[in-house]
Amino acid sequence: MTTATGLPRPTPLPDRSDAPPRERTDWMLALMRELFPMFRTIAGEGLRSTLRRLARDLPLQIREVASGTQVLDWTIPNEWSIRAAHVSDSTGRRVVDLADSNLHVVSYSRPVDETMSLAELQPHLHSLPEHPDWIPYRTSFFAENWGFCLSHRQRSALTEQRYRVVIDAELRPGSLSYGEAFLPGDSPEEILVFTHCCHPSLANDNLSGIAVAAAAARELSTRPRRLGYRFVFAPTTIGSIAWLATNEAILPRIRGGLVLANLGDAGALRYKRSRSPSLTDAAAARVLAHCGEAHELIDFIPWGYDERQFCSPGFDLPMGRLTRSPEGGYPQYHTSADDLSLIDPASLSRSVDVVLHILGAIERERRLVNLSPRGEPQLGKRGLYRAGQRAGQAADSHLALLWVLNQSDGSRGLLEIAQRAGLPFEAIDEAAAALEQAGLVREAPHDGESDSWRSRR
Ligand code: ZN
Repeated sequence: MTTATGLPRPTPLPDRSDAPPRERTDWMLALMRELFPMFRTIAGEGLRSTLRRLARDLPLQIREVASGTQVLDWTIPNEWSIRAAHVSDSTGRRVVDLADSNLHVVSYSRPVDETMSLAELQPHLHSLPEHPDWIPYRTSFFAENWGFCLSHRQRSALTEQRYRVVIDAELRPGSLSYGEAFLPGDSPEEILVFTHCCHPSLANDNLSGIAVAAAAARELSTRPRRLGYRFVFAPTTIGSIAWLATNEAILPRIRGGLVLANLGDAGALRYKRSRSPSLTDAAAARVLAHCGEAHELIDFIPWGYDERQFCSPGFDLPMGRLTRSPEGGYPQYHTSADDLSLIDPASLSRSVDVVLHILGAIERERRLVNLSPRGEPQLGKRGLYRAGQRAGQAADSHLALLWVLNQSDGSRGLLEIAQRAGLPFEAIDEAAAALEQAGLVREAPHDGESDSWRSRR
């Protein structure tokens, strides 16, 4: 069933205690298991294989930006590929071997084939004394260097002797790949969702973000859409910079959007606001207020993931960020312990619901005009009067009708009305749809610039 906007009827966010939809959860976990072993980095085959895998289930275009291309203040790097990397002791025994973990070599290490003392090797080793069994994840994307990551237990077992160090890697011109799935809507305006997909074999950061974005895209692809939805899967920082540099024509059409990351652990939901007040902020605040689980809203800071680029002052896009545990905010972050066992399937699936509801609120946000503003219109004769559950108290659905009628003078949208009423956005949206159906309100002429959230920017 659809509403006057042509969109499906709003559905409330499922209860936190409801079992997650089995088909979705199984699909996401299977995708993550398949992507986990791929050796991703910011430019190379692992990234491309990841995008090709996503393209099997999504209408994903894979785009390439050639090495050496100037993108904003940055340059697309060479592609990095690695065949083998190991450290062997004087008996030839491999004490560290890339074959055992994708995290063992510092990403973008330059080729090495040398024999050296332990003292010479030590500055190139990375371990975590506080978590002696975990392997850290380290990169050296924009500085020529090399290194190995290993558990502190492995490192402590190294003795004074000569070690042979081999990194059989290649850095050569190629291209940086990103994937983009665009789901067109009735309006030229669109919603942008970005997630980074450059980390090797780490589950929460960020196979969870990839899986949540992919599941959201998959579910939205079968629904009527008022706005277009653009899902971008790209390497962090250089990927969002490359996307911004090559898609400037799209930017004025972006009505809202999210950067998604770290959405599969059992931590509380955390929404980070955009740089300037935005429709996305209003939608996220409303959805999280009624999501029935622990959550936090934080202000924009120029530190974190790709929101740093989208919210840089020259773009200042209306994009926020949704995570559970933030970057650096959980002990397993950027270590081998961020594996699939860290993923809580219920939280992962719940993240999709929350994302769909935030994006849905952006899509359904509209300003209405009450066509019968002199006194309350008689709702009973239109079949809209709903008595309260208790004498003297109106039901939320009835209150929602009264709020929409009272506040719809064309100056404020449904999100602002929901906030003032202290009701879930779906309740206000549902009431608005019923009143539109009854001919008591109609949509105010759409003028992006007078949109009440945007005019405060
Ligand atoms: Zn990361």
